[in-house]
Amino acid sequence: MSNTKYIFVTGGVTSSLGKGIIASSLATLLQARGYSVTIQKLDPYINVDPGTLNPYEHGECYVTNDGAETDLDLGHYERFLNRPTSQANNVTTGRIFKTVIEKERRGDYLGKTVQYVPHITDEIKRRIKLLGNTGEYEIVITEIGGTIGDIESQVYVEAVRQMRQELPTGNTLVIHLTLVPYLAASGELKTKPSQHSVKMLQAEGVQPDILVCRAERQLGDEIKRKLALFCNVKNDSVIESLDAESIYEVPVLMHKEKLDEVTLRKLDLPTKNEPDLTRWRDFLSKLKYPEHEVEIGLVGKYVELKDSYKSIAEALIHAGAENETKVKVRWIHSDRLTPESVARTCKGLQGILVAPGFGERGFEGKIATVQYAREQNIPFFVICFGMQAAVIEFARNVIGLKNANSTEIDEKTKYPVIDLMEAQKKVTNMGGTMRLGASDCELTETSKAFSIYKRSMISERHRHRFEFNNKYLDKFISKGMDATGTNPDTGLVEIVEIPAHPFFIGVQFHPEYKSTVANPHPLFVNFIKAAIAYSTTSK
Ligand code: GLN
Repeated sequence: MSNTKYIFVTGGVTSSLGKGIIASSLATLLQARGYSVTIQKLDPYINVDPGTLNPYEHGECYVTNDGAETDLDLGHYERFLNRPTSQANNVTTGRIFKTVIEKERRGDYLGKTVQYVPHITDEIKRRIKLLGNTGEYEIVITEIGGTIGDIESQVYVEAVRQMRQELPTGNTLVIHLTLVPYLAASGELKTKPSQHSVKMLQAEGVQPDILVCRAERQLGDEIKRKLALFCNVKNDSVIESLDAESIYEVPVLMHKEKLDEVTLRKLDLPTKNEPDLTRWRDFLSKLKYPEHEVEIGLVGKYVELKDSYKSIAEALIHAGAENETKVKVRWIHSDRLTPESVARTCKGLQGILVAPGFGERGFEGKIATVQYAREQNIPFFVICFGMQAAVIEFARNVIGLKNANSTEIDEKTKYPVIDLMEAQKKVTNMGGTMRLGASDCELTETSKAFSIYKRSMISERHRHRFEFNNKYLDKFISKGMDATGTNPDTGLVEIVEIPAHPFFIGVQFHPEYKSTVANPHPLFVNFIKAAIAYSTTSK
């Protein structure tokens, strides 16, 4: 049995306080002190995974190497820690219940009444310990989704209470993230919401060890003492978390507040090694003091909710920092783009990115954007559905295949240049049935992609059903669009390029999932480079 330490992060008062960022920041600090750490998210909703959720509901669906469709917080975990996560890092109530009910149907419970306690709680505890038991991690941080007091999260808090009771003292720690609002009318910070939320947690049997307090103003010693006294934590365990300009500053701020030190002390772990944040600080200074600025148009159908394209937005930030360039994003709604409006909407951009997506709405707007970027020689980088739009536009306007389309949008199209694979045609269930997760891709050595990746075999993550239809490949090549990356096992086209264009790359996979602070994704880095070059030539 491993001696893994478990840290639980709960949230109180309101949602959206940034538990994921606090968990990621703490993990970053612990990792920078030499510990091996991973982070897990428990989501208290009934969907088995977020794959079937509309992005408007819950933001982007993040995909891991092993093909799990997960909560977007896992994206933060990977971006901060530069370590891949997997299905084990994200568990929902739906998945817990599914397992328990399947066991019950198999007769595994030997006639017992199946109940929240112990059967559901046992399954939750088993899932939490799965990561610890791999032996790979000294510390596992488990973020409990939702807000304390929600009906949905109660069973998770009970599982935490049991783990605290079962494991030796010093092997578990509870960090409660709360809000200390500032009332402008009275000019005061208010501790009562935090007191209530901690009381609720205590009533469920869990005493937090550390309070992390989100606040717009500095707490000051008096407020800290009051919070400590009434929430029953030590004075040094009230940590202030002020709003930061960038999420990437939070690890440094948390270090200043000694969150890592207090955590280690309470876990009976040595604190003597200061975290090595040299590379992190280097990234931050490039981010904060850029030398250039470019504006990139991000065309998509869910742009009102920026979280829908979280990984893309973050990958652009990483690539910007790498190029010491501020990347401004102009969010463009594909619904509102027409061949007539596209030039006006995209005026002044140094690069255009067409985002992934599903379904017909806004698709013709994406086609209009492709045509504009292709003809105007604007750096152009398109992902998944965006690549499919690029292929369709090329088929229609360059090859002359009138009304070419994807069978996702027009089932009866005469020229299905994007089509379903045979295996997908039989699929009727929506959940977890796309082409998901990492697969290999072989690059043509003369391609731009090869010069960017600097190797011929790469691995990237997928999340789609439709594919480039290889029946048309020769026509594309003869007219100037090359397939420069293909799957070595299936021959499926994964990358297209127009060599005559300064920067025109379409990828069927999702490179944004693999961009991290330590390893900005080379496609994004080179896209921004091309945008900088474009901005100097187009002046
Ligand atoms: N709708 C397209 C497909 O299923 C693209 C999906 C995506 O962009 N992730 O193939």
